[in-house]
Amino acid sequence: MNLVDSHNRTINYLRLAVTDRCNLRCFYCMPENGIKFLNKKEILSYEEMIRLMEILRPMGIDKLRITGGEPFVRKDLMSFLKTVKNRFDLRSFSITSNATLLHNYMEELPQLFDSMNISLDSLNADRFLDITRRNDFKQVWDNINALIETGIKVKINAVVMNDKNIEDILPFVAWTKNKNVEVRFIEEMPFNGSREKEQISNWDYTKILEHISSEFPEIEKLETGPSSTSLLYQVKGFTGKFGIIPAFSRTFCGTCNRIRITAKGQLRTCLYSANGTDLLKPLRAGKSFETMQQIVRHAVSNKEANGFEAAEKRLDQGAIYESMTTIGG
Ligand code: SAM
Ligand code: SF4
Repeated sequence: MNLVDSHNRTINYLRLAVTDRCNLRCFYCMPENGIKFLNKKEILSYEEMIRLMEILRPMGIDKLRITGGEPFVRKDLMSFLKTVKNRFDLRSFSITSNATLLHNYMEELPQLFDSMNISLDSLNADRFLDITRRNDFKQVWDNINALIETGIKVKINAVVMNDKNIEDILPFVAWTKNKNVEVRFIEEMPFNGSREKEQISNWDYTKILEHISSEFPEIEKLETGPSSTSLLYQVKGFTGKFGIIPAFSRTFCGTCNRIRITAKGQLRTCLYSANGTDLLKPLRAGKSFETMQQIVRHAVSNKEANGFEAAEKRLDQGAIYESMTTIGG
């Protein structure tokens, strides 16, 4: 039977974090010295992730996104991805990556993915270094262009931040004039492993759209799927598109269809909630397929109505805001 929460939302989308580690240090995501990373024994093995998919697929999970941390820093990722692709009949299979390591896999990627999400917050090498604290702009830029050439649909995720990359917003939109790429501007969220909520950017989706409209007045709004988190637009006559994701304004919670599993095997029903349901322990204790399904069903039935409710509960518990690498972006 399909997974339905107590707000009558069908849950069919899983974001699976294969690692909490990363080779960049994006300042909105992680402190400069990183976070306390998990050791190998504490995270799900690939076999355990496959087992979880065997449990979840019959419950209606047919959309899967691999994320992290940076998925490609985990050893043997490609053979895991091939196994998942071949074993499960998925409506959608994708991955989110910072693109730093993609040159190693450019030929194999089109056999795995129709579409990939790539994080890139600036088109300028100095600002990229300032934001990510790593000097990898050229490699990332070359990889993104090579990826577009393969025919994979590329969606760029750019987090919009005060004093960091506001000057990149218009060039990003201009880039879509002749490139078949979708640039999605994301409101910054407080998941940085250190800073508090109050300090984040005031660039919300309305301000971002107004800023873009001031330079590109002829913008068309495009249709998106019912559970889409992105408001989608196109400048009239442009090849590519741009989107805005109100990740902090949380206007999309009413149609949320997703759950997350963190690298350490915690099921999270909302990005903003402090608590998760441990799946690793029962899995390693050899709990039956049916028991595991019951654990998942119970967690989903308690899925928060929206990210505000989840965040309120978090504050009540005095829980600090974690890094997105811990939650699984
Ligand atoms: N390392 C991969 C990457 O950067 O694409 C995948 C994991 S990353 C945590 C997934 C997404 O979360 C990225 O697009 C990143 O920009 C976004 N992200 C991380 N921290 C964020 C924050 N505090 N606010 C908004 N988005 C954030
Ligand atoms: Fe790494 Fe992605 Fe976080 Fe940047 S956003 S530090 S690339 S996990």
